[in-house]
Amino acid sequence: MEDGPLVIAIDGPAGAGKSTIARRVAEDLGWAYLDTGAMYRAVTLVALELEVPLEDAEALAALAADLPLHLAPDGTVTVREQDVTALIRTAEITAAVSVVASVQAVREVMVRHQRRFAAQNGRIVAEGRDMGTEVFPDAHLKVYLDADPGERARRRLAQGSEQEGGEDLEAMRSKIEARDRLDSTREASPLRPADDAWRLDTTRMTPDEVFEAVRSRVRSAIRS
Ligand code: C5P
Repeated sequence: MEDGPLVIAIDGPAGAGKSTIARRVAEDLGWAYLDTGAMYRAVTLVALELEVPLEDAEALAALAADLPLHLAPDGTVTVREQDVTALIRTAEITAAVSVVASVQAVREVMVRHQRRFAAQNGRIVAEGRDMGTEVFPDAHLKVYLDADPGERARRRLAQGSEQEGGEDLEAMRSKIEARDRLDSTREASPLRPADDAWRLDTTRMTPDEVFEAVRSRVRSAIRS
């Protein structure tokens, strides 16, 4: 029997299908779902609202440290008791979030929240960029989902969540690639697969196929 929480870590670049899959796996198991991207997005939302300059790392760190951020086991994010789950999905937030997430002191505050969430909920499916590498190095299973940038851009457009700019596929693709570049080249906890991650290229798979593949991997991992 394990002492600490049981964690399934799901990492990967933007648009690889992490959220859909992590949410479905959590529902399937009856475990809590932790969307860590939503946390960095919530800090970014408040930074933009308060007009904190994104190059002011100290001010961003202070803001993160004081932020009354709450995460529910179903993925709902609240700030000062206001549900911001939908507000944090705009193109404006998406364009700014990687800068906020590159600040080491912001990450330290978020990681403390994330580990507390795991301790409180006991069994969680955690999704992000550094779940398997930094936050939960002892995760029971580490999954790294990836797909070609063109396919990831196509999925993002199909979701329709970030289309305020009337974007075409090429514009979306270059935005996704720019965000991946920032996320994987930053000094603080860059996006990369953990050495012991199970990697799945989902480019030619439907969401149902990805879910079935991950579910069967998860089920055998938690039986062992
Ligand atoms: O997954 P999502 O697209 O919501 O993540 C938004 C951003 O938050 C990422 O592009 C990345 O900059 C940051 N992030 C991170 N570490 C995580 C989760 C997200 O740096 N664990």
